[in-house]
Amino acid sequence: MQAFAEAGVPLNEVTPLHNMERLALEMIDLQPDSVVNWQALPELRAGSTGQTDIWLRLTADASVPLTCQRCMGVVQTDLQVDQWYRFVASEEIAMAEDDASDEDLLVLTPQFDVMEVLEDELLMALPLVPMHDVCPVMPTFSAGEIDVPDDVGDKPSPFAALAQLKKK
Ligand SMILES: [Zn+2]
Repeated sequence: MQAFAEAGVPLNEVTPLHNMERLALEMIDLQPDSVVNWQALPELRAGSTGQTDIWLRLTADASVPLTCQRCMGVVQTDLQVDQWYRFVASEEIAMAEDDASDEDLLVLTPQFDVMEVLEDELLMALPLVPMHDVCPVMPTFSAGEIDVPDDVGDKPSPFAALAQLKKK
């Protein structure tokens, strides 16, 4: 990560959504060629106490198939991520500085995995209730779709007939 940041060259990647197992669980009918386009841009900045901090901007763009909660069909949903992170040396520092920081803090470890962070961000970007703006098929029936005899309105219901009997 240090070397990556010092080089200052953005990383542009295209990752199949299938490779993101936790995110893929949220989807229906995921096509094999569905991808997330993402970019990681490192930056070195002078910190408040003279040290050099590593910052990272993560941006991502994906269209994911979710289940519409109104019609239960597939609703293609755009997810966008644009987040700044600052790396800190330890979990303790992250805990201490988190509240005072607008950016997210990440602990710089040898195992740091940008894909994990990206998947977390995409999961957080998922809508709570995925829904079409206008559903392609409405779940309610209109009179044209079900076979209703034209004279249905004229027939007394059995209950109405029963009520008549009771009055006698
Ligand atoms: Zn819908």
